[in-house]
Amino acid sequence: MVTSSLTRRGLLAGGAALGLAACARPSSATAASVETGGPVVFRGATVLPMTGDAVWEATDVLVRDGVVAEIGRGLGGGTEIDASGAILMPGMVDVHRHCWQAPFAGLGADWDFAAFTQVTQGGIVPRYRPEDFHAAALLSHLDALDAGVTTVVDYNHGLVEPADAEASLRAATESGARVRYAWGHAAMQANDPARSWYTAVEPLLARRTDLVDVALALDWSSDPALPERAAWEFAARENLQVTAHSGLYGRGTDAFIDALRNTGRLRSGTLYVHAGAFGDSSYRAIRDSGGAMAICTESEFTFGQGRPATKQVARYGIGAGLGSDTVVYESADLLTAMRSTLNADRLRANTEAQQANAPLPAPQLTAAQVLEWGTVGGARALGLADRIGTVEVGKRADLVLLRPRSPLGGLALANHPAAAVVLHASRADVDTVLVDGRIVKRDGTLVADLAAAQRAATDTRAHVLADLDLAAARRGRT
Ligand SMILES: [Zn+2]
Repeated sequence: MVTSSLTRRGLLAGGAALGLAACARPSSATAASVETGGPVVFRGATVLPMTGDAVWEATDVLVRDGVVAEIGRGLGGGTEIDASGAILMPGMVDVHRHCWQAPFAGLGADWDFAAFTQVTQGGIVPRYRPEDFHAAALLSHLDALDAGVTTVVDYNHGLVEPADAEASLRAATESGARVRYAWGHAAMQANDPARSWYTAVEPLLARRTDLVDVALALDWSSDPALPERAAWEFAARENLQVTAHSGLYGRGTDAFIDALRNTGRLRSGTLYVHAGAFGDSSYRAIRDSGGAMAICTESEFTFGQGRPATKQVARYGIGAGLGSDTVVYESADLLTAMRSTLNADRLRANTEAQQANAPLPAPQLTAAQVLEWGTVGGARALGLADRIGTVEVGKRADLVLLRPRSPLGGLALANHPAAAVVLHASRADVDTVLVDGRIVKRDGTLVADLAAAQRAATDTRAHVLADLDLAAARRGRT
């Protein structure tokens, strides 16, 4: 999302240290004592396996060797976690997040899109050094884990130098999260195929792990010749997923899909982000080609990319996941994404009926459906549903235990467990998180060196703000 040329970064001296928000937790006192990779038994949970409508009450789940090994009652053989009165479900999957913007959470709460572009791409990107990409990505991935999000697509479109990507990928690996690292470029819309910028991805492919893989982030193009087709061909050759901001109000709409179709680039697995403003033929093309959509409701609300594409997903039968997009002007919390998406669809349906003087419809989108989009739906959109997204024997153990902090609220009552998660859970209720069978959060505290992550992010923020006026930036100026 940038059209201006970039200046070299790193010319600015770091300034006085500025503290990050006080909500960051101190370094975990329990980190050394938690056995993070051994067998674990969740005892007596209410399990939402996300396999159809199933809910299993008072159920044990045994995790061993990174997978869900057994599900039943009276299981033993691992570290015991009392899960009575708590909900165990798959880790949430965030299919669209710009991790590099994490140190500037909330800064753009009142921006429009022009201000967003000016401050992030015009103000932050030129100042970012590789260590800043590392600090931001680590902050973002740990923040996601803290909120029960175990898989993130990091749409990294602020890159300038190959070292930026290497630093971001290293942070993903260090975080312990499951990450699809989507390599973009801050100048991608210059559409200069001669730069072959995408070939900088090649060295990263050897650094993929069981948890961290690589994709390409290619924004829409309105040019029917699809100038970036070489990058699309590279992705196809290397079997990399492509994810693309597209189908936004006034930008990247049907001409983009036509260009993909006419150049033979419509491809299974492509993940279209926002995608609320396409026409019928484009939605059919996305469905028929095996594409999926990333619904980012808070972002659609704020920047008007179009209505969240809930209606189109249902009408055309397109696979979908939920994205948090950016913490700069959103919650970056998938629980909020699920809640706002449910509300958005009901507002849309009711408004359409009211405008037609028709009877109000019964709710179409259910709490269980948005929970599915936030878990196994997202996993499907990433081609990972054979490994994650449900609680099933043999699946990798990416799990979240929600333990109500209050005995009074809807999460504790759990009259309708899926609704309890979607309507009443918060990140404060995220008690325990496992990724690939390894505990990354226990008793409400992340098992990570949070003090180091906080220090690095504070340094990044201070470096950028050394000559970028914070008050002006809040107003969208640089
Ligand atoms: Zn985005």
